[in-house]
Amino acid sequence: MAELVEQLGRCACSEAFSAGLHPAQWSALRYFERANRFSRTVSAFAQYHGTTRGTASQTIRSLVHKGYLQRLPVKHDQRSFRLDLTEKAQLVLASDPLGEFVSAAGALPVEQCSALVLGLRAMLDQVLEKRARRPFGVCTSCEHLGAADTEHQEGCGHHCRLQDEVLGAQELGRICVDHRCRQGH
Ligand code: SF4
Repeated sequence: MAELVEQLGRCACSEAFSAGLHPAQWSALRYFERANRFSRTVSAFAQYHGTTRGTASQTIRSLVHKGYLQRLPVKHDQRSFRLDLTEKAQLVLASDPLGEFVSAAGALPVEQCSALVLGLRAMLDQVLEKRARRPFGVCTSCEHLGAADTEHQEGCGHHCRLQDEVLGAQELGRICVDHRCRQGH
């Protein structure tokens, strides 16, 4: 199984020299497409990729320079900025070389696909734990997710207790650097 994972990784990397981007830049674009607004930062990206802040900054700087990422100010923190995909990035992601893998996975029977996801997730969790890294997760399995109270009536009725922010429905499935697994997930 480990050899198959390695072979798949190699195939993904060798295909990821397209549209003038290299594998690390493609990975970063995918990350910023999937990450929630609290996690679209240089340090969260560095954590997710298990790389140094310096290497992450270099990748991000090149993507800003090429017009794929834009820096936006963060509310209540003038020293930080958030990184969002530009329209140019959304367009290039439509031809992501990883699309071939998505199609191959989509062709599997649903039960087989679900079992694979569970198995690979468990493998990844073990490897990350040994490296003292935490996996990112989504709001629906997070202990910080709460229902919006009368103070937080907007949005989809969900509230992040950690950030004290209302969450929109489209945000619940995005990966988050502050995710803490709720018991039973
Ligand atoms: S509920 Fe959890 S996963 Fe969602 S934004 Fe808050 S900390 Fe992140």
